[in-house]
Amino acid sequence: MLTGELPRRVRPAQLVGRSINGTLSLERLPRLAEYAAGGSLSASLAFAEDQAQRYLLVTGEVRAVLRLPCQRCLTEMDWSFETNVQWGLAGDDAVAAHLSKTLDLDPVLLERDGTLDLEESLSDEVLLGAPMDAMHSTACSDTALWRSGDVA
Ligand SMILES: [Zn+2]
Repeated sequence: MLTGELPRRVRPAQLVGRSINGTLSLERLPRLAEYAAGGSLSASLAFAEDQAQRYLLVTGEVRAVLRLPCQRCLTEMDWSFETNVQWGLAGDDAVAAHLSKTLDLDPVLLERDGTLDLEESLSDEVLLGAPMDAMHSTACSDTALWRSGDVA
């Protein structure tokens, strides 16, 4: 198993039967860095090959903790996210549609040279799950409002 900082790109065909496990810092994820004030992302991914159907499969977990402003009280809060991924790797849109429709996999397009862009695909997973309006789970600003005396 490979561990540590994840590479930007991997070559899935060479990783069949293996797993990678590691982190990506937010500085390397511009789309997440735009959205969050800080945080980290880690992933454990296992690579497999379906010989009968001739596609590559990636299963695993993605975890992220992002610093987001609470939309109610505007202080920053930690938003924790964890999701299971089940990607079917596709070389083109037709294969992607097939993997999605008949096998119920999340299709991920490979680069032209057969590599998988981990920074892009992991950013996608986190942004898909990220809230548009992150808020503390408890009524954070209510007490401040009542105490201000403006609301009587
Ligand atoms: Zn709040």
